[in-house]
Amino acid sequence: MHSLYVESWLSSLGCPYASNITSIQVRNGSGGGLVLLQDTQLIETLAHFSRERIPERVVHAKAAGAFGVFEVTHNCTDITSASFLSSIGKKTEVLLRVSTVGPERGSADTVRDVHGWAMKLYTDQGNLDWVFNNTPIFFIRDPIKFPSLNRSHKRHPRTNMTDANMFWDFHVGNPEGIHEIMHLFSDRGTPASIRHMNAYSGHTYKFTKEDGSFKYVKIHIKSHLGVANLTREAAVKLAGENPDYLVQDLYDAIESGSYPNYNVYVQVMDPREAETYKWNIFDMTKVWPHKDFPLRQIGRLTLTRNPRNYFVDIEQASFSPSTMVPGFAPSADPVLQARMFAYPDAARYRLGVNYQQLPTNASRSPVYCPFERDGFMNFSENYGDDPNYVGSSLRPTTFATDSQGKGRIASTVTEHEKWVGEACSFTTHITEEDFEQAAALWEVLGRESGHQERFIGNVADHLRGVTDSRLRNMVYDLFSHVNSVLGDSIQIATEASL
Ligand code: NDP
Repeated sequence: MHSLYVESWLSSLGCPYASNITSIQVRNGSGGGLVLLQDTQLIETLAHFSRERIPERVVHAKAAGAFGVFEVTHNCTDITSASFLSSIGKKTEVLLRVSTVGPERGSADTVRDVHGWAMKLYTDQGNLDWVFNNTPIFFIRDPIKFPSLNRSHKRHPRTNMTDANMFWDFHVGNPEGIHEIMHLFSDRGTPASIRHMNAYSGHTYKFTKEDGSFKYVKIHIKSHLGVANLTREAAVKLAGENPDYLVQDLYDAIESGSYPNYNVYVQVMDPREAETYKWNIFDMTKVWPHKDFPLRQIGRLTLTRNPRNYFVDIEQASFSPSTMVPGFAPSADPVLQARMFAYPDAARYRLGVNYQQLPTNASRSPVYCPFERDGFMNFSENYGDDPNYVGSSLRPTTFATDSQGKGRIASTVTEHEKWVGEACSFTTHITEEDFEQAAALWEVLGRESGHQERFIGNVADHLRGVTDSRLRNMVYDLFSHVNSVLGDSIQIATEASL
């Protein structure tokens, strides 16, 4: 079925047929002919072609992907009972998909954007998805803003063009994103390659243990080659010359045996520290400064294999922060909680309700989930005649328990987090604190020769697309709040370029 060479043409239903090079026609001499409805293969060929596309991801459409291996390099069994992290040297197969966020599937991949880093670890206790970015924080901390944020970065409803007015209007009105804006317009907004990119969990997660204890963690994935970026000018030029520049770089490197490597680290926080820590650890616009929470290495990631078929391996891949294994658990970050709903929901829309059965998404360890069955495109045995209801006395089911005999496994422990409160609309108050880490990053950029100047140029080049001078002034004020010299410099550079 998968062989490239067959002795005769076989239809998708296995029936031999004469040729798929000519249609069956009633010919009139050497002139035209009438094609026949009975030419099933012609009809199949045309009908299938019209249906080759599945819905494009609304965000993260353009991507590169590869398979690889995660290997444990350091003991971390003191903070998690996750099986895939249980011993030094233990290896887990990985699928990685790296994407731009806003632009469409056919767009250039060197455009300035946050880059998604979606990683599926096929562990021996089921799949674990790390759905990260190449920035350690994000634009928002309330998930209800997520569609608005993304629309403001996409095409204007009237002009069908990306629109600087819309972009900056959103960010001036939602200034908690200034820290992420600082990352986006730094050199890291245009990575030189996926091999030279870092990735971050952004959200706080939990490492849990079977005794019910846990630590809060943030995960960092750092390139062995170090970070390297394109200048704005080089990125724009490459977007025209080779819109698949990042895809090609990764593909070529792996084909030539030059396997990209990354070290994987965690920052670890005790739950008690979280109560008094300066920063709200559930606010996705903030990092944990390294000096407070140093990186601790746990593993290494190596990419070793290109996809055999992009559609099957990468386009049909789905990732969700809700895909978790025992020993790894979500935190109360509201954006994370919302993503845990939204990502599988997107997969159900894009791929269908049985998306988990597709080869690239399927768990490599055994699956037994008889209460999810039937549905469109069910490829499985569908659990035969096993009970399709809970509590059967005819065929009792046993579930995995933790060492304390609790009914559910460790990933759902809630010790420390006891929530009592009023259900209310959550207002995102903007305070001076929202500018502190953005200002710290401005200082970090100053450590590298010319980076602050390039940052100013990157912002000014985008901001000159804003036609409304009132809005431009609001943007200058926003950056002045980070650093007054920065705001003034952006204003001078922008207005001079108009
Ligand atoms: P540190 O001086 O300890 O760390 C600064 C970090 O900034 C570096 O470790 C590096 O992260 C990252 N960095 C270096 N150059 C750039 C750049 N051009 N663009 C973006 N990031 C860069 O300070 P803090 O930990 O106190 O953080 C200060 C600021 O650095 C933060 O406000 C944040 O914006 C940024 N940052 C912090 C990270 C964190 O988790 N604490 C992670 C990344 C950035 P890396 O080694 O991961 O490349």
